[in-house]
Amino acid sequence: FWEVSYNIAHLMQFIPVAIQAAAAVRHMEELLDEPTPIADRAGAAVLPRITDNIAFERVTFSYEGAEQPVLDNLSLKLKAGRTIAIVGPSGSGKSTLLNMILRLYQPDEGRISIDGVDVRKVTLDSLRQSMAVVFQENMLFNMSIRDNIRLGKEGATDEEVVEAAKKAEIHRYIMSLPDKYDTQVGERGDTLSGGQRQRLAIARAIVRDPSVLLLDEATSALDQTTEAAINKTLLKLARGRTMIFSTHRLTSVVEMDEIIVISGGQAIERGSHKELLAKNGVYRKLWDDQKNRGYDDDEDDDDEDDD
Ligand code: ADP
Ligand code: MG
Repeated sequence: FWEVSYNIAHLMQFIPVAIQAAAAVRHMEELLDEPTPIADRAGAAVLPRITDNIAFERVTFSYEGAEQPVLDNLSLKLKAGRTIAIVGPSGSGKSTLLNMILRLYQPDEGRISIDGVDVRKVTLDSLRQSMAVVFQENMLFNMSIRDNIRLGKEGATDEEVVEAAKKAEIHRYIMSLPDKYDTQVGERGDTLSGGQRQRLAIARAIVRDPSVLLLDEATSALDQTTEAAINKTLLKLARGRTMIFSTHRLTSVVEMDEIIVISGGQAIERGSHKELLAKNGVYRKLWDDQKNRGYDDDEDDDDEDDD
């Protein structure tokens, strides 16, 4: 129902759907101006490819008007090249943490650095250039599958688009459609299953060849089989990158290099799945609770997909 210019559509993919929707309501007529969430400082530098870590350094952050800070003096190092899960119950601040890496929000106190450089001192463009995000729901636009993938990288060639779709393991499905990559995605992508939509979003992310891949509950709305299949794809794609994967569903994180449990604005436990089970702490309790509750009782498990 709206005419979206390429540029806007391209930028929109970094912004969570909830914020996109709010922005759409508030600034309907301004939508064709570029959203500039947080401006660069004068003399901001271009961020080099990340080699060491992303660090939260005593970060405190509250949303306006909130009584409690979401992140409370949080210190956390996320090592480059690893697959890292951020887990914790709904509302514990996982999405906030990811969005802060993208500089959608800034700390009230403390700083976020990449390889020791405050993210406020680099250009937003170079920061986001090195990253890609997949959310639980991702905007698909009323255009061809090819163009929906290409939104991840301005000027991506057809070959790059196909390569990304292959990596996201959606190429064969696309080739089975009568119009292949020219297939028009319906207004809300409702011709595709949930799993297929997520794979398109993953292709859009991977066409950027990001050094940091952020996944915010990216597989949480899928049925168990689809979730497992897509998680497998993601682990392959994580090779040679840093993957930060937030989820409240622990079945997704068993194979990650490292799991960080956040609660009360703090990182309260970290380690591998095995280590955390052996620790018999909060992770263990969350794990046992989810096991007992069973998959079908999952609050978000309302999609019926075959992938
Ligand atoms: P999670 O992703 O772990 O579910 P969030 O980061 O989304 O947690 O939210 C952490 C807390 O911040 C919650 O209490 C939530 O209600 C609040 N919150 C999240 N987004 C906003 C916002 N845009 N404005 C105000 N409060 C928010
Ligand atoms: Mg969240």
